[in-house]
Amino acid sequence: MTVHKSKLIAGNWKMNASLASNETLLKAVLEGLGASVCDVAVCVPGPYLAQVGGIVSGSAIALGAQDVSAHPSGAYTGEQSAAMLQEFGVRYAIVGHSERRQYHGERDEVVSAKTAMALRHGITPIVCVGETLAEREAGQTEEVVKRQLAAVIHDNGHCISEIVVAYEPVWAIGTGKTATPEQAQAVHHLLRAQLHHAAGDHAAGIRILYGGSMNAANAPQLLAQPDIDGGLIGGASLKSADFLQIIAAAN
Ligand code: PGA
Repeated sequence: MTVHKSKLIAGNWKMNASLASNETLLKAVLEGLGASVCDVAVCVPGPYLAQVGGIVSGSAIALGAQDVSAHPSGAYTGEQSAAMLQEFGVRYAIVGHSERRQYHGERDEVVSAKTAMALRHGITPIVCVGETLAEREAGQTEEVVKRQLAAVIHDNGHCISEIVVAYEPVWAIGTGKTATPEQAQAVHHLLRAQLHHAAGDHAAGIRILYGGSMNAANAPQLLAQPDIDGGLIGGASLKSADFLQIIAAAN
């Protein structure tokens, strides 16, 4: 089955933002965007959701969050529920980013629960999977990414076609070391097969993004791979010229 899906370029600003810099960055991106055919999103720190939501409202840029609570409401100090994000017009939420897994001990079950919570509130989860350098060197890449995705499929099988997956090799994040297009394609291909096994033809429309030091120079080759449907962009999403060039490569 051939499914025509537009690519998705999502910026992950991480903990980088200020009222002034957000305005400057978004103004430049909006001006340079033109008639982009790919989907574009920016995943911003919680305190800036309202500001950024206002700036991108009515534009081609969708609002995204960087995390979502696995719980609906209640005594979870510091967390933000999917219902709250929904109130602010959030369309995408990153879940299971390796920095959350590494620094906040998020396990596969939690990532899966967060995925479910986002889906329940009409927010598209961008589910991140990826191996560490030690795991790659030990030949465990396939096992690790499949285990991470399997947990999400297990609990969300009925609406798995609504998710976005991001393959982010941990060793490539913020390091300047990008996976080669061949390395990335190989992993995307096996994730695609796993999704197909779980959801049949419904899986064909699921977008699998690559993330990890994607930049203006390497984006064209990465995005040309048959199973790479977009990018999750950290550092380069903070520079309007670079982000725009990546978007152009996806068009
Ligand atoms: P990077 O980050 O592009 O700075 O490597 C990607 C990410 O962590 O989502």
